[in-house]
Amino acid sequence: MDDMHHFVIVGGGAGGLELATKLGNKLGKKNKARITLVDAALTHVWKPLLHEVAAGSLNSDAAQVDFRVHAQQHYFEFQPGRLTGLDRSQKTITLAPINNRKGEEVVAARRVPYDTLVIAVGSTTNDFGTKGAEEHCQFLDSQLQARRFHQSLLNRYLQAEHAPEGERDIHVAIIGGGATGVELAAELRYASQQLES
Ligand SMILES: Cc1cc2nc3c(=O)[nH]c(=O)nc-3n(C[C@H](O)[C@H](O)[C@H](O)COP(=O)(O)OP(=O)(O)OC[C@H]3O[C@@H](n4cnc5c(N)ncnc54)[C@H](O)[C@@H]3O)c2cc1C
Repeated sequence: MDDMHHFVIVGGGAGGLELATKLGNKLGKKNKARITLVDAALTHVWKPLLHEVAAGSLNSDAAQVDFRVHAQQHYFEFQPGRLTGLDRSQKTITLAPINNRKGEEVVAARRVPYDTLVIAVGSTTNDFGTKGAEEHCQFLDSQLQARRFHQSLLNRYLQAEHAPEGERDIHVAIIGGGATGVELAAELRYASQQLES
């Protein structure tokens, strides 16, 4: 096992999860290589579905892939953790400690050795340093952010229901008219019809 070539893939998104699955099925299954997928999250949700989670038309629990279960089914290993360091000379990566909700350490920082390393950590929205954007806008790059958006939308609906006549409108401003922005606008229109009916 120790002599086996060790592929480490950091990031179980659209690219990394697919790669780990294919390598697992092709090499892991025949014990020709060891494959480890590392991700800061425990589950994967296909990002193009996030606007539906944000609008509430999709339950992210139903749409998510559990990394550990998927790894078992496709002959690779899953290691939870956030990448914080890379030592190319030693061929190791460092993962941050894992804490519980109270901030207590559950697993200490650790090093993972590799023979081949693939970093597939994706990207996040760039606000180009726009003043106030980080503090006052909601972003839509992760499940957590999509769920938070949905929660705040529901809260606004509750407030609107109990507001005086004429003060019940909810305005959502979406910055960015690309696929995500346009799809979110359409999904919110649909969700508002559902919530009003
Ligand atoms: C709302 C939304 C809608 C989209 N719609 C479409 C669409 O309709 N069609 C289309 O083609 N594309 C769409 N995209 C773009 C598409 O989702 C991305 O191009 C694609 O997900 C990129 O894949 P990736 O594997 O590079 O990274 P991602 O899918 O972003 O995955 C990155 C992974 O890395 C993990 N990670 C990040 N940092 C660390 C770290 N330090 N340590 C460990 N793990 C880490 C994350 O938890 C995540 O699982 C959309 C994106 C968004 C946000």
